[in-house]
Amino acid sequence: MFGYGLACKIIREGKQFKRMIDELEKSQWYSSQELKELQKEKLKIIIRHAFNNVPYYNRLFRKLNISPSDIKDIEDLKKLPLISRRDVQANPEDFLAVNVNKNFIRTAFTSGTMGSPLKIYRDVYSINFENAIIRRQYRWAGFKDGGRKVILRSTLAVSSKIKRPPYWRYDFFQNALMASAYHLSEKNIGLYLKEISGYRPDALETVPSIGYVFAKLLKQKNANLGFKYVFTSSDNLSRYKKDFIQSQFNARVFDHYGMAERVSAIGMCEKGIYHVYPEYGITEFLPLDRCKENYFEIIGTGLNNFAMPLLRYRSGDVARLTSGMCECGRNFQCIDGIEGRTSDQFFVTSDRRFVPLLVCILSANIHGLIESQFIQESAGEILVKIATDNRFGSSDEAKIRGQIKNYLGQDTRITIEKVAFIPREKNGKFRQFISEL
Ligand SMILES: [Zn+2]
Repeated sequence: MFGYGLACKIIREGKQFKRMIDELEKSQWYSSQELKELQKEKLKIIIRHAFNNVPYYNRLFRKLNISPSDIKDIEDLKKLPLISRRDVQANPEDFLAVNVNKNFIRTAFTSGTMGSPLKIYRDVYSINFENAIIRRQYRWAGFKDGGRKVILRSTLAVSSKIKRPPYWRYDFFQNALMASAYHLSEKNIGLYLKEISGYRPDALETVPSIGYVFAKLLKQKNANLGFKYVFTSSDNLSRYKKDFIQSQFNARVFDHYGMAERVSAIGMCEKGIYHVYPEYGITEFLPLDRCKENYFEIIGTGLNNFAMPLLRYRSGDVARLTSGMCECGRNFQCIDGIEGRTSDQFFVTSDRRFVPLLVCILSANIHGLIESQFIQESAGEILVKIATDNRFGSSDEAKIRGQIKNYLGQDTRITIEKVAFIPREKNGKFRQFISEL
């Protein structure tokens, strides 16, 4: 485990990491003009790389009869079409740069909002950059580098098969107590409280929906647990949840928006305002005609992932824009709020635990899975509707059952129903999870 932790730290914070964070400390005070120049420089490099080394883009540029030199400016990006999750999903390897060293890339999966997994390749540079941009936000909050934190997220800190405490483990390299969100319950909350109070952390790193459940369980117990900072990411942070978490933990909440596809990132500064990070990607906002006036879809062109460059990628997520500058003094675009992120609903287990259904439950090694939908009608039971093509076999069905049980609990009762098409809601939206409890 020790060797694994060290390997993770090297991948997360390699030797480039320090240089990146130093540069990010400087660029945050750039003028709008300097930021544009920086973006233009980075864009030029990624466009040339995409053309030279990424099969999908090489073909696309030829088809459009344009060369990398035709995209000199941010405005020129509009010469390229928007791409969506479905384009990448059709053949992820088509987006993989041919010149990357396969030993230095990591594969990630995302379930997104369509219920079908997407394979994403990341190089070490982009993993370092991701962590540098997050480190900068932690510094904005006032959190000291290497400070003590509790990580309570949907990723399994301990196996779901574990039935007895400890429901946590210590990560020396992250200086963190990794607590299991899976085992959080009314029955176990006292154990969590005791362990975390004894650890005396400065920060809690969590997902809004999990942080909210955690705060609620503590409130029911009339327990006091304080953090200086709560860092959230990965699902919707409503004003209500934010206020509730802040008051329960006597902490300030700093939210971060990122995507597995690594094309755009947005985070709250010390004034509590969301900012688009210009060094991370070029973020465009596409007006949503059906919605209210200042609602836009987030479109991103990642500037740092050379393993799998994605240009003008539709996130499917929605931001509310606002005009004006932030008091913090940074010339970063301000965002009023982010909506439409992955579901923040819960699966209720037979022993009445609440497991958020926001992570990738089904991984990409299920062949022929086009879409899936989860429906819960009673505690501990789930109906999975799947639309598949002819690559889907009985071993894939077994994989679905195994992966769901690993995440929701071994005693989960699963019904799989094959359908030709998963019906949309009246408004045309796809719902990944429907709870009728
Ligand atoms: Zn600000």
